[in-house]
Amino acid sequence: MAAEGDFDCDLVIIGAGLTGLSLACWLLELSRQEKQRLPTVHLLEPRTDYHNDRTWCFWDKDHHPFRKLISHRWFHWQVSKGLHKVSQSSKRTPYAMLPAGKVYQHALGCVESCPEFKLRQGVTVEDMEASADGVLISTSTGRFRACAVIDTRPPVASQLSQYPGFWQVFTGYEIHCPGHGYSTDAARLMDFQPGEGHVCFVYLLPLDQDNLLVEWTEFSPGGELPDCQERLEAWLNAQNFKEYTVNRSESAALPMIPISRSRQQGRVIKAGVGAGWMRAATGYHFATCQRNSAELAGQVLAAAASGHWDLRPFESRKRWLDWMDRVFLRALRRHPEAAPDWFMGLFAVTKAEQMARFMNDQPRWRDAIAVAAALPTGPFLRAAFS
Ligand SMILES: Cc1cc2nc3c(=O)[nH]c(=O)nc-3n(C[C@H](O)[C@H](O)[C@H](O)COP(=O)(O)OP(=O)(O)OC[C@H]3O[C@@H](n4cnc5c(N)ncnc54)[C@H](O)[C@@H]3O)c2cc1C
Repeated sequence: MAAEGDFDCDLVIIGAGLTGLSLACWLLELSRQEKQRLPTVHLLEPRTDYHNDRTWCFWDKDHHPFRKLISHRWFHWQVSKGLHKVSQSSKRTPYAMLPAGKVYQHALGCVESCPEFKLRQGVTVEDMEASADGVLISTSTGRFRACAVIDTRPPVASQLSQYPGFWQVFTGYEIHCPGHGYSTDAARLMDFQPGEGHVCFVYLLPLDQDNLLVEWTEFSPGGELPDCQERLEAWLNAQNFKEYTVNRSESAALPMIPISRSRQQGRVIKAGVGAGWMRAATGYHFATCQRNSAELAGQVLAAAASGHWDLRPFESRKRWLDWMDRVFLRALRRHPEAAPDWFMGLFAVTKAEQMARFMNDQPRWRDAIAVAAALPTGPFLRAAFS
């Protein structure tokens, strides 16, 4: 523990999950590129072990520090309901998958190789106090002092706005299933299933001819969350697979609820899902996380160079896109039974590149207009003006 007045480091990053580790990798990359001094950074993380606990999927367009680790790319993707299927294809912007295990391994290697960085595992942050000349961070293992803090802890209930949204609940299995019969060319983003009054679909990524990632997903309006594992197993058992073995599983309940953004600036700034980087209408976060981490890492390098630690919140995505998402969520709450047709219509009418930009939080005006035009006017106008 540092004595009062001492600084343990320039920057503390609270949480070394996707955002914390992305920030570290971007700091390293940008400091090398721009030949700037790296600040000293402590990453504080409660977990003592990292597991291959999830996969990150996104439309692969831009550079980021983990791009070489992408394990699969699909140049076609589809949504379907029963026998009705809509497909899109793009040679330039495939749908891509990154296993978390590879990301963690690479990022932890970067952190370890860099004398300015220290990952402190088994450390839970309990409290923070910012003053004019630094931040005092109280943790389960003692106190740290830093010039500035980036806080990537997940949102707490009070940060979730009162806006009616959903919980995106899912369980996924990576299964070995010899000769499963699915074409390995296309990612199946949503295969809609009959639901109990809310949106249910199977998400299926053919990894090769013998392996699949299959997830059962539901948009639950709240209350008791559905048992997606039971439903996934029932769905798997109803397929004509001769046999399958489960090699890995993942599950989550992601808030499809807008996060109140902090306007706080200065020595403490929020980042990651807790800062609203995850898209409320989709649960996608990875591509935005990379863009925003690069932006924040640039600010940190500038602050370290000038000694003036004033980190500023920035627009993590266009405000009008957040507004579109809120309207979409409201319309979906009112008409969950219509969701399959809305999604099918959306993918049928828009171009693949437009959807890729829209889903990655980088739509142009024309893309947004194409999306709005693909959706039925009545329910969306009522949702917009209610
Ligand atoms: C199973 C799963 C699959 C997903 N798939 C996708 C996908 O395909 N595409 C996509 O774009 N998004 C996906 N997401 C959503 C999102 O990308 C991930 O949740 C992502 O990990 C969020 O990054 P984060 O850094 O904000 O949070 P996390 O990765 O959860 O990191 C937050 C960190 O803060 C730490 N922490 C918590 N409390 C404290 C404390 N008090 N003190 C210090 N540290 C603390 C945690 O231990 C954790 O390491 C998925 C999420 C899950 C759960």
